[in-house]
Amino acid sequence: MNIILLGPPGAGKGTQAGHLVKARDMVQLSTGDMLREAKDSGTEMGNMVADVMARGDLVTDEIVIGLIREKLEGDNKGGFIFDGFPRTLEQADALGKLLDEAGQGIDAVIELKVNDEVLVDRIVGRAEDARKAGQPVRADDNAESLKIRLMAYYKQTSPLIGYYYAKDMLTSVNGLGTMAEVQAEIADLLDA
Ligand code: ADP
Repeated sequence: MNIILLGPPGAGKGTQAGHLVKARDMVQLSTGDMLREAKDSGTEMGNMVADVMARGDLVTDEIVIGLIREKLEGDNKGGFIFDGFPRTLEQADALGKLLDEAGQGIDAVIELKVNDEVLVDRIVGRAEDARKAGQPVRADDNAESLKIRLMAYYKQTSPLIGYYYAKDMLTSVNGLGTMAEVQAEIADLLDA
């Protein structure tokens, strides 16, 4: 079973994906994690995207589609969880084609619905917690980049809600519940 987790920054996509990896042996494909890895290990591509990411803008479709294409060749165990991908209509079309070519498809697109105040609180809180614990803070977890990330979400990614709705693939869950509540809601719809 392959699923897409859709939602704004701070909606809890990564948290829920992490749970699905443990509970269902699924494979998390987070383009954000892949890009941060490339940046941290100083690859040419990583250096190229570092500024765009820190600012909060999207990196090019070509780069992220390339990253995903490579991963689709690997073992998908209990299925892929696309986390933070696709983020544009072009990426959504490309993913559809790539899966088609591999004889696979998307079983569900799960939108985590939250409101903007919660997002800002969660992300600013996440950065503060990391700072207090002496852990590294993401370069884009600050108020200024967050505004740009939100704007990128509304301008470029939120059209995907209509795109998948029109394809009869969209299910929305309430992302404002506790982690366990959201987990349970997702489990229910995957088992339905
Ligand atoms: P968020 O917390 O905003 O959901 P991610 O970890 O998914 O963060 O992504 C961090 C950054 O990586 C994004 O702001 C963007 O610059 C880049 N990025 C991640 N995934 C994509 C994608 N599918 N397309 C374009 N840029 C991406």
